[in-house]
Amino acid sequence: MKAAILTKPYNIEIIDVEKPEIGETDVLLKVIETGICGSDLHTYKGIHPFRKPPVILGHEVAGDVVEVGKKVIDIDIGTRVAIEPQAACSVCSYCNQGRYNICPKRLLPGVGGWMGTFAEYFVSNSEKLYPLNEQVSYSSGVLAEPIAVGLHGAKRANVKGSSTLVLGLGPIGIGAAFSAKILGAKQVVATDIAKINLQVAKDFGVDTPIDVAEQDLVTTARKYAKEGFDSVIVASGYEGVLDDAISLSKRGATIVVISLFANEITTNINQLVIQEKEILGSSTYTKSDFKTVVDWFNNNELKPDSMITHKMPLEKASEALNILDKRTEPVIKIILKP
Ligand SMILES: [Zn+2]
Ligand SMILES: [Zn+2]
Repeated sequence: MKAAILTKPYNIEIIDVEKPEIGETDVLLKVIETGICGSDLHTYKGIHPFRKPPVILGHEVAGDVVEVGKKVIDIDIGTRVAIEPQAACSVCSYCNQGRYNICPKRLLPGVGGWMGTFAEYFVSNSEKLYPLNEQVSYSSGVLAEPIAVGLHGAKRANVKGSSTLVLGLGPIGIGAAFSAKILGAKQVVATDIAKINLQVAKDFGVDTPIDVAEQDLVTTARKYAKEGFDSVIVASGYEGVLDDAISLSKRGATIVVISLFANEITTNINQLVIQEKEILGSSTYTKSDFKTVVDWFNNNELKPDSMITHKMPLEKASEALNILDKRTEPVIKIILKP
């Protein structure tokens, strides 16, 4: 089968690899659409904390089931699905508490021999499938993943009844903003430097988008929350983002960090201590998050396709990653089609 492999930073080759074999509880998915995530870009640039080349990138995926393992009895060939792309050990204390997203043995595509989704076929355990109703596009299926990341972050941020600030409106930030609104946030203010992201975010429940390329973030955001925001969700890794999060949050506020950072960062922690703010990390999602997002799609509560700015053939993976890196044209989510 055809696959796009990152052989070293900034170098992707289209190669022919063995079609993967499935185990008894697995399915083989024909990849119809796969998304490029910020973490794929980090790996492409050689700055991801644990995904390293040589690697087949990609983990946001939707497609058709074309083969099922011997023990898979409840899934038909041809089922259209989105896939939750992580697997945990299921026996450790974290897994037992249902927090398998922080299992120390958690596997992700592109790590530990599990091939990524920038390929014609992808293997997944059958428990990780989420069937898509007929009216739900494969593109929506792909977006289940970044939106679930945003939902998990919004849940950790205690947004109910709160004024919420989302820093960064990539697909995850947009997902977090939408989720915050559904979870009962009173007001969602969100920021980005790209006009297209700010524009599209309005379809996803952002009450007040702030264009920080043109407006000063701190003065503008303060207008909407004089004493600061109850919850701040960090979905961007720009320099100084934590300083902004701390200074724009209210006393006792919760700050949730979803982004990963290429370098160590420093921030002034005293304000956090004196004002009893908390900073929490947020990593991927669990089954209930993923299911909630796919239910939103299947029940027509969310149609996220406006986030997709590009669809390109898999062969153009390099070009696509460069567009995302250099932002030579307006871009939110790029879909690759094998
Ligand atoms: Zn992702
Ligand atoms: Zn575990």
